[in-house]
Amino acid sequence: MNQLAHFVSGRSMESVGTAAPIINPATGCRLGLVPAAPDEEVDIVVAAAKAALPAWSGLAVQQRINLMFDLRRALEVNKEEIIDFVLTETGKTLTDATMEVNRAVEIIGHATATTVLSATPYTRGIATGINTYEVRYPVGVVAAISPFNFPVMIPLLQTMMAIACGNTVVAKPSDRNPSALLRLAEYFSKAGLPDGVFNVLLGGAAAVDRIIEHPDVAAITFVGSTPIARHIRTKGVAHNKRVQAFGGGKNHLVVMPDADVDSTADAAVSAAFGAAGQRCMAVSVIVAVGAIADPLVDAISKRAAALPIGNITDPSAVLGPVISEESVQRIAGHVEQAKKEGATVALDGRQHGAGDDGWYLGPTVLDNVRPGMAAHSDEIFGPVLSVVRVNSYEEAVAVISASDFGNGASIFTRDVGLASRFTDDAPAGQIGINVPIPSPVYFHGFAGWKDSAFTETKMHGRDTIDFLTRTKTVTARAL
Ligand code: NAD
Repeated sequence: MNQLAHFVSGRSMESVGTAAPIINPATGCRLGLVPAAPDEEVDIVVAAAKAALPAWSGLAVQQRINLMFDLRRALEVNKEEIIDFVLTETGKTLTDATMEVNRAVEIIGHATATTVLSATPYTRGIATGINTYEVRYPVGVVAAISPFNFPVMIPLLQTMMAIACGNTVVAKPSDRNPSALLRLAEYFSKAGLPDGVFNVLLGGAAAVDRIIEHPDVAAITFVGSTPIARHIRTKGVAHNKRVQAFGGGKNHLVVMPDADVDSTADAAVSAAFGAAGQRCMAVSVIVAVGAIADPLVDAISKRAAALPIGNITDPSAVLGPVISEESVQRIAGHVEQAKKEGATVALDGRQHGAGDDGWYLGPTVLDNVRPGMAAHSDEIFGPVLSVVRVNSYEEAVAVISASDFGNGASIFTRDVGLASRFTDDAPAGQIGINVPIPSPVYFHGFAGWKDSAFTETKMHGRDTIDFLTRTKTVTARAL
């Protein structure tokens, strides 16, 4: 079986690390082997990124930006192949995989705006004949550690602005599905990106720990689950690194009694079950206020029960598999636990269990969930939607506040005043008003509140530039 290799300094590098299989979640078939880098290999990859820094950071800004346009083109022309990797290794539906890769193209495009975003202040005459200004420098080697659920989009969100700012990168994709990023690294190299600027390291927890300790890594950008995000942040800061660590989510959608039942149910089903619920911004809790609860649960359950499951290459498929057999067991366990804790299973998706044909679960709707139950407190990360019933807007906000997570919170209502209050009241980094998944476009920043992010700076948007660069403040007398 084909064993993948790291991509370092413009070429593949075999690994001697222990290898684990990559498995197609839609079929259960083995696709290849992914090695786990031992410390010596991590060191080689970091050294390659360090060696490339002086030449890359010394290039004229416009030369780097011109290359970003070439990288975008390289992804665009090879899109079909990259989509195919997302289909086979992640088990996304064709529509979802295509959407992800199209967004990835836009993300590289956004990195060309770095020049505009990175302008620094200049103050003339802070004293007679003396001016003060700031000069930006790249931070150095940036390590990007990524989750499985967006194997192209998230690594590019973490790395494209980094290299546009003059840093070099060690990208550590998820060990479940690294092929798309590896192939992209090859295309970037062919498009003219100098050797060592964009390296891909394969591995798991041990490789990440070595990265965090490595003296030549200046900054770490992590996206993944909350326990690992917390660990990365704590350990990274202890090693004096800059660290952005984005964690999991439990995203609430408050539905007020004046909302339209049909359009809200359509939005809720798409936001809860798209990508089999494996999105950090998936809606996983509906907070139904007052009398809308009965018709809403009914409308959601009917729509969810009718979702086409499986055959991910069929453009009409909506619900694909979850990433692993372990995920199937974990998610099914959550449904059982919710039942024990007093939730009503309005729709049970567990009949589509693990098997030879992949790791499918149907959509599950849990009604009468309450804060304090695991179905409300834990990120399930699968096709399970919980419904909490409350009597007032204030109670709805209290339900959101009871969660440790704070990625996104949305409200569906026709009351403009209430929508505006919600922006102030809901403790989350992304707010949706009549929009179920308020993921921002790249020129605005993204970061959750509470345990959804351990960072001072947001991902993408202007904040990213501050994370990826350091400044000198110069005070100069004109002689
Ligand atoms: P994960 O935390 O298991 O893995 C993420 C990365 O960390 C992978 O590269 C993995 O190899 C590495 N890793 C795993 N265990 C580690 C350890 N003990 N020490 C160091 N590194 C380790 O996450 P996942 O299952 O791949 O992805 C799903 C999670 O990511 C969900 O919780 C989801 O909400 C979250 N996510 C968050 C965002 C966001 O923007 N906040 C976006 C996408 C996904």
